[in-house]
Amino acid sequence: MTQTYNFSAGPAMLPKEVLLKIQSELIEYEKSKASVMEISHRGVDFMEAAEKSEKDFRELLDIPDNYKVLFLQGGASAQFSMVPINLLRGGSKANYANTGHWSVKAIAEAKRYCRVNICTDGTDNNFTDIEEFENWNIDEEASYLHYTPNETIAGLEFDYIPEVEMPIAADMSSTILSRPIDVSKYGVIYAGAQKNIGPSGLTIVIVREDLIGDVVKGQPKLFDYSTQANNDSMFNTPATFPWYAAGRVFEWLKEQGGLKTMQKINQTKAETLYKAIDNSDFYSNPVSIKYRSWMNVPFLLADENLNSKFLEQSKDAGLLALKGHRSVGGMRASIYNAMPQEGVDALISFMNDFEKDFG
Ligand SMILES: *Cc1c(COP(=O)(O)O)cnc(C)c1O
Repeated sequence: MTQTYNFSAGPAMLPKEVLLKIQSELIEYEKSKASVMEISHRGVDFMEAAEKSEKDFRELLDIPDNYKVLFLQGGASAQFSMVPINLLRGGSKANYANTGHWSVKAIAEAKRYCRVNICTDGTDNNFTDIEEFENWNIDEEASYLHYTPNETIAGLEFDYIPEVEMPIAADMSSTILSRPIDVSKYGVIYAGAQKNIGPSGLTIVIVREDLIGDVVKGQPKLFDYSTQANNDSMFNTPATFPWYAAGRVFEWLKEQGGLKTMQKINQTKAETLYKAIDNSDFYSNPVSIKYRSWMNVPFLLADENLNSKFLEQSKDAGLLALKGHRSVGGMRASIYNAMPQEGVDALISFMNDFEKDFG
């Protein structure tokens, strides 16, 4: 196989070492004599894998003891409902920051359960900038604040955590594990696995214990965090394979040196790519420099008519899935933990050659 680098936004690239490890144990998992996909989630072999996975995840993010970690299904999109169902706690209002595509989706779902106060809105700047927190319009009586630390589509990422008295719920689908975070600042953190955790089909939720158990009446039992927490995420059959595979990713992250090391690597990757874009008149990125995402880097070509040629030639060069989201256009390079610096360097060198040929 020739060397390829996969810039897909999600499901995204996994570390090669992890794929090889999974391949080597796919048919017979440890002592079970069957595939990890074929064994009971209540059997000792899977239970051990699940527990180890949670332990490593906790260690990586330094999650305090008063937080539960849930391994669920339904994607981040199911959390758009579960957050209001669990965090309204008798209230009728919630604050939502509208910073992009995924905020919009979360807001639409929350409106089914409560009055939504849009406390900041980036619609007018086409989600290329974030308002300073002191200018947000927070409703102090609302039950919680929801925001999206990294907007995957526009490539817009917060460099601060909002300072509020109420619990904060954060959709970290495309930024979790990219660097250390202070979990204690949050009420709920959730993330679909398919960007920076593992294969799709798994959603991880980190939730502060005192926020569990007071839910909007008449909602599905599975959507009650207490159902999941009281049953160690095994009220029904969990997504066993992605849970196990995520565990292999966590082991890999620990081997790399943990999240402080990943932070340095990710920052350098992003900086080199943005620098290449900014140093050229042929490529551009519209996002306010302060809020550029480390994980998702959208860029436009000066001549849109060259987009399909760029995609064709980059694919031939082994650089996959660079097509931008249709709402932004152009290209997008997603450079999560699994993308090595060499992949970013290969992309930059391709971009330079393409500019020489067509710019
Ligand atoms: C991908 C993504 C989602 C959607 O995740 P699903 O798991 O497909 O529901 C939500 N929020 C953000 C920030 C994302 O990047």
